[in-house]
Amino acid sequence: MRTYDFDFFVIGGGSGGVRAARMAGQRGARVGLAEAAELGGTCVNVGCIPKKLYSYAAGYAEAFEEAAGYGWQMAEAPRFDWAHLKAQRAREIGRLNGVYGTLLKNAGVQLITGWAQLIDAHTVEVDGQRHTARHILIATGGTPFVPELPGREHVVTSDAMFDLDPFPKRLMVVGGGYIACEFASIFRGLGAAVTQVHRRAHVLTGFDDDVRQFLASEMGKAGVDLVLSAEVESVRRTEKGLDVMLSRGRQHEVDTVLFATGRVPNTEGLCLEAAGVALDDRGAIAVDAHYRTSVPSIFAVGDVSTSAPLTPVALAEAMVVVDSLFGDRRRRMDYEFIPTAVFTHPNIGTCGYSESDARAKFGKVDVYCSDFKALRHTLSGRNERTFMKLVVDKASDRVVGLHMVGADAGEIVQGFAVAMRAGATKALFDSTIGIHPTAAEEFVTMRDASAV
Ligand code: NDP
Repeated sequence: MRTYDFDFFVIGGGSGGVRAARMAGQRGARVGLAEAAELGGTCVNVGCIPKKLYSYAAGYAEAFEEAAGYGWQMAEAPRFDWAHLKAQRAREIGRLNGVYGTLLKNAGVQLITGWAQLIDAHTVEVDGQRHTARHILIATGGTPFVPELPGREHVVTSDAMFDLDPFPKRLMVVGGGYIACEFASIFRGLGAAVTQVHRRAHVLTGFDDDVRQFLASEMGKAGVDLVLSAEVESVRRTEKGLDVMLSRGRQHEVDTVLFATGRVPNTEGLCLEAAGVALDDRGAIAVDAHYRTSVPSIFAVGDVSTSAPLTPVALAEAMVVVDSLFGDRRRRMDYEFIPTAVFTHPNIGTCGYSESDARAKFGKVDVYCSDFKALRHTLSGRNERTFMKLVVDKASDRVVGLHMVGADAGEIVQGFAVAMRAGATKALFDSTIGIHPTAAEEFVTMRDASAV
């Protein structure tokens, strides 16, 4: 039998790659992992974690404003120190990079720093050094996509947002997805004048229509200037900043233009063709239900191949691969009822089907909506409102869609996602006792289906 240097070689030290390497190492496999940059990938370095930290920073601006309604007098107006926030973030991300390294080391994984390329079905080359492996996992993630346009060289992507210098007093965000909405909200909270430009009539394609409209209205109230059904035609650098020309002749002068127009799988430079690894029509690595590529010894997980580019999905996919290769369980991942949050201000939390998708899949549905002012804002003076919605399959009474726009929506929806995966019915929601006074209790007290 052929012998290999490693049982398992992972290309990419982000969420999916590190999880797979660690777990395989803990099960006794001889594991190598190649990463050219810092460990932790997009999520740790330029994604989820620094984004959430900056979202907390933006939240303080709201809290300072609201405090007066609760009797707190500030001696002087709070002042935001961007350089301090950046330094604090860099320190924390550096600590997390180290934690990832320690986790790999403790699991016996050999970390190889450098760019990895496939040579064949069982061989990887990193900086001129060849390594053979029985199984190879590609977990190289994704990278921001910016469409071609005049002045493209003047715009930035989310990768650059965390370290901008100086702070952009006037920011334009292009796009209407997760990243665009989150950065628009966060930088507005931190004090920037924010214009968000989106090509469609509503932000957040694919989300429930009521959620999309409610969020746009709340972001507008918070001061984000949302320009819909418009596209950027060109960007020009002038002495005063960046001159952005939009469709229909509208012109804007800003300091920074962020293009958050989607992400593409990181497949370039891996020499996939050398090993015969095929791509699908999205340009992602094509995999079967067990994450096996067109080459039986090579697997792929996470943003480089998945249809759901979310960190927890990459972790779950990695576990499916490790369980089947080094455990005793061959299983499939279930992509239904994946909860997700958008860390706008206020947050969106969602699980299951939008109303329109539920109608398409289940036929008749009952819809329950609630729109209210959270108790906190009765004294805070803020005119923010909270929105909640349940979509129920009429035939089975199962809750198939749960949506929220409001404070801590991500935290609240996580728990409900467990109930939804367990098949909870509306009757079960109704028989659950609320926790009073919370916003979350509204999900178990909605009694009247909207007339549809
Ligand atoms: P999304 O796919 O969510 O959004 C991309 C946006 O860019 C859409 O509004 C899209 O418009 C628009 N767009 C695409 N191409 C163009 C173009 N050529 N010109 C103008 N606009 C364009 O991608 P993101 O980059 O925001 O995020 C990528 C993924 O990362 C998300 O889908 C999500 O899975 C994940 N993510 C998750 C987060 C979380 O869990 N909180 C946070 C950030 C990212 P249209 O609607 O017309 O397609």
